[in-house]
Amino acid sequence: MFTPASDSREDAVTPYRRLGGEHLDLPPLRGEEQADIVIVGGGITGCSAALHAAEAGARVTVLEAMTIGWGASSRNSGHLPPATKHEPAEILRRYGREHGQRIIDASASGPQTLVELTQRHGIECGIAIPGILSVAHTPVALRHLEERAAYWESRGEPIEVLDRDTLAAMVGSRFYLGGVLDKRGGSINPLAYVRGLAKAAIAAGARLYEKTPANSLEREGHRWKVSTPEGVIRADRVFLCTNAHTDTLLPGLKQTVLPVRVVQLFTRPLSDNLRRSILPGREPLLDTRRVANAIRMHEDGGLHFSYGPMMRVGSAPSQAAALARVRELFPQLGEVEIAGWWAGWMGFNPDNSWQMHSPAPGLHAALGCNGRGVVLATLYGRDLARHAAGVAADDLTLPITPLKRVPFHAFSGIAVAAVRSWYRVHDAHQVRRTHALREAS
Ligand SMILES: Cc1cc2nc3c(=O)[nH]c(=O)nc-3n(C[C@H](O)[C@H](O)[C@H](O)COP(=O)(O)OP(=O)(O)OC[C@H]3O[C@@H](n4cnc5c(N)ncnc54)[C@H](O)[C@@H]3O)c2cc1C
Repeated sequence: MFTPASDSREDAVTPYRRLGGEHLDLPPLRGEEQADIVIVGGGITGCSAALHAAEAGARVTVLEAMTIGWGASSRNSGHLPPATKHEPAEILRRYGREHGQRIIDASASGPQTLVELTQRHGIECGIAIPGILSVAHTPVALRHLEERAAYWESRGEPIEVLDRDTLAAMVGSRFYLGGVLDKRGGSINPLAYVRGLAKAAIAAGARLYEKTPANSLEREGHRWKVSTPEGVIRADRVFLCTNAHTDTLLPGLKQTVLPVRVVQLFTRPLSDNLRRSILPGREPLLDTRRVANAIRMHEDGGLHFSYGPMMRVGSAPSQAAALARVRELFPQLGEVEIAGWWAGWMGFNPDNSWQMHSPAPGLHAALGCNGRGVVLATLYGRDLARHAAGVAADDLTLPITPLKRVPFHAFSGIAVAAVRSWYRVHDAHQVRRTHALREAS
């Protein structure tokens, strides 16, 4: 049974709302329906799967328990890194040459794939590819970024190592030791994007229902029967695209993801002077600290930054604590005001990467975003559709793997809170040490 695990503060997602437009206001499913594919979950994964499957000619129905994009898909930072959480060598080691290279290539060209997709469907979502900054808070982290840059540079890709002074001018902060600019990355308004995908899916013939939780899933002969509070739908295939909000619909799936509640904040529009100093090129920034590492500047001059995990539903960061965190990077901010905050749930797993499962004939799931999902959810949603259209499992980007339970899943909330506290202490220690070394040299 679906119970919303997230704070339902949709109106708080203000940096995205202007361009994200109105709710789609789709009706709930009432009565009986037949489909080729039922998709549970109307986030980026589900809507991308719906769009691509409908374009391929399938009869598609999407069931969303809340509203389209209500989950992580409208609550993220909107960064588009051309990468997964792992470096290329690690991906090749884990997945082997074929799948590994496909994952590397698909994610590297992922932001551009989104540009083309949004252009093709006329989705206005502020997508921009000015590059994305990865910046280092320790010498070891800087070395890793330099190795990443060397890998891509040797393949002719547009990635540049930035020394401390160049970086300071691009970021408006001398906090970092150096970094890289990967010109293939960028940012997006994810609320506008997911709603645009949903509209494109409807235009391609898919049927989408909001406020329609899938309450049960049963095998009926060779087909699947999905029941909702006021309806029933039968289909040949079911895609479960529920990520951190995965419930007990399919026994065992919920235990494969560890939901982590991450808080984001944004400021009131900054003065013109500050806008000229902080991220003037509008590149989004990811730093190498473990907690609170995504920052971007919105078009209206509001500075948007992540605060990190706060596991208790409803808990908000204090203004003072949040401002102290961001002023550590940008002391020039002065008396800036926080305009709002919101929380979203990421789905983590021990592999730190997306998983694709097919636990029964015609039943598929793609989940486990680990904080990288605007691009990857689009690609893996598309892969679900390609698989349904006849592409062999071996030819998909991710391998199809058995469900893998997160150890001690029932205690995950406590574990995440403990790990987050340890990471904060560890990050702070590393930053102090780096700054002390720099002053001594
Ligand atoms: C705070 C935060 C910051 C992030 N920042 C970034 C970033 O900058 N860049 C990036 O690439 N990624 C980022 N991510 C990750 C990205 O947002 C996700 O990977 C992506 O949105 C996952 O999409 P999804 O469709 O799989 O899941 P979701 O968007 O979470 O959608 C799942 C949907 O399933 C529905 N659902 C669940 N159970 C049922 C049921 N039984 N019946 C019907 N519906 C159901 C839920 O209501 C929900 O709408 C971030 C995530 C968070 C939370």
